[in-house]
Amino acid sequence: VQGPVTVTVTGAAGQIGYALLFRIASGHLLGPDVPVKLRLLEITPALKAAEGTAMELADCAFPLLQSVDISDDPRVAFDGANVALLVGARPRTKGMERGDLLEANGGIFKPQGEAINAVAADDIKVLVVGNPANTNALIAQAHAPDVPAERFTAMTRLDHNRAISQLASKLDVPVSAIKKLTIWGNHSATQYPDLYHAEVNGKIAAEQVDASWLKDEFIPTVAKRGAAIIEARGASSAASAANAAIDHVYTWVNGTPEGDWTSAAIPSDGSYGVPEGLISSFPVTAKGGKFEIVQGLEIDAFSRERIDASVQELAEERDAVRQLGLI
Ligand code: NDP
Repeated sequence: VQGPVTVTVTGAAGQIGYALLFRIASGHLLGPDVPVKLRLLEITPALKAAEGTAMELADCAFPLLQSVDISDDPRVAFDGANVALLVGARPRTKGMERGDLLEANGGIFKPQGEAINAVAADDIKVLVVGNPANTNALIAQAHAPDVPAERFTAMTRLDHNRAISQLASKLDVPVSAIKKLTIWGNHSATQYPDLYHAEVNGKIAAEQVDASWLKDEFIPTVAKRGAAIIEARGASSAASAANAAIDHVYTWVNGTPEGDWTSAAIPSDGSYGVPEGLISSFPVTAKGGKFEIVQGLEIDAFSRERIDASVQELAEERDAVRQLGLI
């Protein structure tokens, strides 16, 4: 990557945005030599807070940061964007039905998809963080027909990193000993962290732990980690979510190491029985700026059941946004 690279962040004044922007500006998103132009998109009432963050960015005097522009208009914020991090979303509030949540997010991700289609750079890469991330990515993608479909992705890297950390701690090994972990499916409680292909110092992870720990502790701990953080911290995970967004884009641009893969939600090509077009998490490698689904893994019955359940949820979300006319 040469640069400067224009990076648009939505929901920039939110707590993930606050943790994310400084890491982007210090060179962690793309690499230590790549100059960055930041574009912050916020809703009108949050523009002032975004300006405050921009003041702090200025005060860091980051050598790589060439400019910071703030707007509440997607057509301005995505103009010439090479990377878009869609963080701002409508959170589920008490008593909100799923249909209302999807509709509210349709009102955000449809115009953003249209703006990306109209004004972003030809090489635009989109990562959706705002929940329900997989389906929000599908909505944005549906309104950007001129952008190659595979440029729309959603984040499961935080789940991936959480799973690695839990396993490393259980086996008392460094995180670097763990390779080939996979999160399958939706970024939701149905996600499936797969230890049957993961390796610990070259040996299959599922064979290093007992089946009851895997099923009754590991899987629910990874899936419910977000709630546990809220319980402990009194606020949702922000720095770790921002870190995972950085990891996702860094890997996408700079590639996966030889002999390893990562997890990302990308449009399915029908692999592993996941219906084509669903934005589902898979084991992926990255090379030359492209993600590719790792092929040829054997899926045991335990894993099959869990992958199918999560994919079923994704299909239901897709059908719901279709019925609402959002895709
Ligand atoms: P956060 O920055 O904490 O979270 C933003 C989004 O990321 C939420 O949808 C949240 O989902 C999601 N998310 C994904 N993974 C995680 C994770 N592991 N932990 C926590 N969140 C995760 O929200 P804030 O409310 O602090 O900030 C949101 C900002 O977005 C506000 O400033 C708001 O004004 C802005 N916004 C901007 C829009 C735009 O630019 N057009 C549109 C809508 C909002 P979940 O709700 O499930 O936690």
